[in-house]
Amino acid sequence: MEKQVIRGYSKIKTKSYKKSNKTLKTPKIITLNTKNIKHKMKIILLGSPGVGKGTYASFIKEKYKLPHISTGDLFREAMKNGTPLGKKAKEYIDRGDLVPDDLTVQILKERISKPDCENGFMLDGFPRTIPQAEALDKITKIELAINFFASEKIILQRLGGRRICKKCGAIFHLVNKKPKKEGVCDICGGELYQRSDEMPEIIKERLKTYHEKTKPLEDYYKKKGILRGIMVDADINAPNFKEAILDKIDEAIESVKK
Ligand code: AMP
Repeated sequence: MEKQVIRGYSKIKTKSYKKSNKTLKTPKIITLNTKNIKHKMKIILLGSPGVGKGTYASFIKEKYKLPHISTGDLFREAMKNGTPLGKKAKEYIDRGDLVPDDLTVQILKERISKPDCENGFMLDGFPRTIPQAEALDKITKIELAINFFASEKIILQRLGGRRICKKCGAIFHLVNKKPKKEGVCDICGGELYQRSDEMPEIIKERLKTYHEKTKPLEDYYKKKGILRGIMVDADINAPNFKEAILDKIDEAIESVKK
C-alpha cells in the first residue's frame, strides 16, 4: 500500500516551460485557500482526450468553486435536447472530428456570459484549435493554461475502458473503477454504456485530431508565459492521488497569480 502512495506521487510532476528564451521567473510562494482568491481566475485545462481532465476539473471546482465549463458536455446536452446546434454537432462528434470553430465559439461564448462565470471559470476541452484560442482572446483574458499529460499507454487504457450510466451519468472504468455488477450502475442501477466516440476506431481519429489541431496550443500559451504542465501517469486509484494533483495545481496557480 505504502509503495503505491510513493508511486502515485512520483509520477505526478510539474513541467516548467520557458517563455521564448527566458526561463520563467521563480514562482512566488503564497498560502492559498479559497477565501483569498479575490481576483477573477480564468483557467484553461489542456491535454489529450483520456488524460483525465474531467476528473481534475472536478477537484478544482470543489476546491476553488470555479464553474467547470466543458464544451463536450455542452454539445452532449444540446444533442440530448435535439437542438439545431446539437444536431449539427452530432455529425462531427460521431466521426471523432472537431465541431467547426464558429459553432464551438458560439456555444462557449453563450455559456461564459452567464452570471456564474462573472468571478472566473475553468474551461475543459476549449480551446481545441488555434482559431478558437484567438477567438477566446478577443472575448476575455486567460490567466493560466494547465497542460495535463500522460503516456500513450495510459491514455488508451483510460479512454477505452470508460463506461457511463445512462440514467445518472456516473462514470465507471473497466480497469480503474469497476462497477460491482458488470454493465450496471452501482449508484442507481441504470444501464452502463460506452460513449460512441470512445470506440477504438474513433479514439484513433480523436488522438490524430488532437496531435494535429490541439497540441499546437501548448506553444501558443507557452509564448504567452501562462502554460504550466502536470504529468499524470500515476494510478488514479492510488491513495493521495487527488491531494498530489491538487498540490501541483496549487503550484501552477500560485506561479501565475499576481
Ligand atoms: P470531449 O468530451 O471534450 O472529449 O468532447 C467530445 C467531442 O465534442 C469532441 O470529440 C469534439 O467532437 C467535440 N468538441 C468538444 N469541444 C470541442 C471544441 N472546443 N472544438 C471542437 N469540437 C469540440
